[in-house]
Amino acid sequence: MTQSGKAVKLPVKNDLGFFEIRMESIGGLGANVAGKILIEAAIIGMGMNGAGFASYGSEKKGTPIKSFVRICEGAQQVRINSPVEEPHVLAIFHEALAKSVPVTAGAVPGKTVVILNTRRTPSEARDFLKLEGGKVGVVDAMEVAMATGSRVNMVMMGAIMKAAGFYEWKAAEDAVQAQFGKKYPTLMKANMDALKRGFDEVKFEEFKKDGKFPPQPFRREEPKLGYETAPIGGTIYSVGNMRFKDLSTSRTGTIPLFILDKCVRCGECDITCPDYCFVWEKGKDPKTGKDGMVLLGIDYQYCKGCLRCTHICKFGALIPAKEAEQDMDKITVKHKFLK
Ligand code: SF4
Ligand code: SF4
Repeated sequence: MTQSGKAVKLPVKNDLGFFEIRMESIGGLGANVAGKILIEAAIIGMGMNGAGFASYGSEKKGTPIKSFVRICEGAQQVRINSPVEEPHVLAIFHEALAKSVPVTAGAVPGKTVVILNTRRTPSEARDFLKLEGGKVGVVDAMEVAMATGSRVNMVMMGAIMKAAGFYEWKAAEDAVQAQFGKKYPTLMKANMDALKRGFDEVKFEEFKKDGKFPPQPFRREEPKLGYETAPIGGTIYSVGNMRFKDLSTSRTGTIPLFILDKCVRCGECDITCPDYCFVWEKGKDPKTGKDGMVLLGIDYQYCKGCLRCTHICKFGALIPAKEAEQDMDKITVKHKFLK
């Protein structure tokens, strides 16, 4: 029963009677908490049944995580505890994840609504994610989170509630209050504003299965190593594997912007950066004409947006900037030996 006394009917359910949500995110963006709020709103606020749980590795900021929500009508019990494979709503909290994780696996056109945190249009998002078809929603969750003083998860939750179509606003508000009200009472307004803007600002578009991209069936990732194939302890069996690392998923909206004209090539940033992002090459100093090492810019593939370098540079050559406002392909300088 809802707080108004009505029993809630799910608009759609799978063969087992569940409405399922999967959130693909990175540690630090709050998908785990979003799952808790969505499940609490459904169970406590709306008298439904369900389960919510997350799957993550080292619980480190920036590592990929999945959060699952499974909801059924009040009379049904939950007797399943496996990951959500073919969700009704698939929310992708960071678009860079699509480069390294099969985030769209199990998206079924006609069943799954895919929501992406992005500045792209739905059509661009569909192409970026290579979706076979179906309903695609986009919302600039990072921008809204920064504008409201809240977090990406609140905005994405608003968009998920819109796609789900059965959430009651009061139930969601109570669940947010229960989660943050005591700990961060001053942030309640910001969180509710972000939730509302996610709900109002997500834009949807439906795409036909036009043969542009193939289906992306769900596949369970098999562990690469087992007890019969494990290498001798301590050996590195894929040499130079760090070059493939993409730390851009760790960023939360801000990057250091390099202003070449102001740089005096003191090297302080290079000493400070923990991730070897600064690209230097032998050349002539453009101001003095002397031969030496010249700082060309930043390889943003490795930059996690900690902004330590912007604090250390005394010459104003590194300033914090909104990532969404930059053309990242244009400003990224690659290390020559990694090209
Ligand atoms: S700290 Fe600033 S001035 Fe010094 S090398 Fe880095 S960007 Fe240039
Ligand atoms: S923001 Fe952090 S990771 Fe990125 S270049 Fe600066 S110091 Fe390195």
